[in-house]
Amino acid sequence: MNNFIPSQTNNQRKAEREQVVLVGVYGMQHDREIAEEYIQELELLAATAGGDTVKKFLQNRDHPDPGTYIGGGKLGEIAEFVKSENIDAVIFDDDLTATQLRNIEQKTQTKVLDRSNLILDIFASHAKTSAAKTQVELAQLEYLLPRLTRYWTHLSRQKGGIGTKGPGETQIETDRRLIGKRISMLKEKLRKLDKQRKVQRKGRIDNLRISLVGYTNAGKSSLMNALTQSGVKVEDKLFATLDSTVRRLQIGKEDVLLSDTVGFIRKLPHRLIESFKSTLDEIRESDLLIHVVDATSPLMDDYIDTVHSTLKEIGADQIPEIMVINKIDGIDDPGQMAGLKRAYPGAIPASALRGIGLETITDAIEKRLEERYTEKKLHLPLGDQKVVSFLHEVAQIDELKYEEDKISVQFKINRKYLGALEGLLERSDNGLSFVNK
Ligand code: GDP
Ligand code: MG
Repeated sequence: MNNFIPSQTNNQRKAEREQVVLVGVYGMQHDREIAEEYIQELELLAATAGGDTVKKFLQNRDHPDPGTYIGGGKLGEIAEFVKSENIDAVIFDDDLTATQLRNIEQKTQTKVLDRSNLILDIFASHAKTSAAKTQVELAQLEYLLPRLTRYWTHLSRQKGGIGTKGPGETQIETDRRLIGKRISMLKEKLRKLDKQRKVQRKGRIDNLRISLVGYTNAGKSSLMNALTQSGVKVEDKLFATLDSTVRRLQIGKEDVLLSDTVGFIRKLPHRLIESFKSTLDEIRESDLLIHVVDATSPLMDDYIDTVHSTLKEIGADQIPEIMVINKIDGIDDPGQMAGLKRAYPGAIPASALRGIGLETITDAIEKRLEERYTEKKLHLPLGDQKVVSFLHEVAQIDELKYEEDKISVQFKINRKYLGALEGLLERSDNGLSFVNK
């Protein structure tokens, strides 16, 4: 009697994943050591997209070949490997032109992807909300549009089209028009979603907003969970989070909104940044950023630069930032730790996984939040209860004295209430005054 349904064997499971090879180049913008780190990141990207890396090819070149990106010899070697090992896809760490894609595909007789392509694919499979799906589709179509010829060359040949006026080209024109239409439609849909989002957001305008930003896989979601004791999805994958998640966080007496946002990555396709503008608004509209970095990554400095330049690109580089050096549980060498502290003096060492440094982070947030407050002293005529009760409502009163001829009050107030307070003082028009402005 056997009621067991056999579970999938490892081999079966493997068969569902695509077998891929990766290709990187050094000697143009970076040396071999960096290229190896980049290609390791590409391997993680490929794994996230469902691909198992069988082999990595690195080539030293001082300039790209306009037709095939890498040299002919290397390409031949890759083509042979693809054939003998039954490889499903060849993935390049750099972006390829339409011509290069086509030529490499012809030579290897298999699917060829570049970095942008891969990232878009991952975004597509991780998009959950309507906004994210729309944004990804828009980015995909905009990526596809200039590369259309590549997809239709086989067709034009099949139909015997010659030159630019053949039926294949007509097909391209039709497709271009259809895609163009779809792009306008998606843009319109995004505009509507954006409007809705702004209306929904109005209600929480008063709340302080803090966003977690950082390179993908740095530990933003883990830190979000550690700080708010919630269950945001954490994965050792790139871009596990596409839509931002918002949680409340109690800081001192205040409720702040903490957002976990999409991770940044080296060479994030520009189109993607463009189409993800509304997701990135979450960051742009923050009062404070917590920049999470992975202390165990050899490319930490590089990643910090990527995050800062992306923040600049989306217009969020003026927002105050607290840097958190995460995953310090993975650092055994005290010399390395000391080096990090020297290189990033204001940063907070932490481990989201072990719960190290969380209090220091909330203290730092509280301190930053306090900078929104200002100390004021006010003299009021006796009997001016309106102003006093307003202050009771919105300010923290440190001293309230009823003297012979006046009320003297000292308080701490959020700068955003100063306008209302001044209005109130003018209306009561009692010759009262701020002692310190
Ligand atoms: P995100 O992409 O920035 O949101 O990163 P995640 O929070 O999803 O974490 C990415 C990976 O890093 C996961 O495998 C986490 O378990 C791991 N991770 C996060 N924080 C820490 C930490 O403090 N120490 C260690 N060793 N691993 C961590
Ligand atoms: Mg995440």
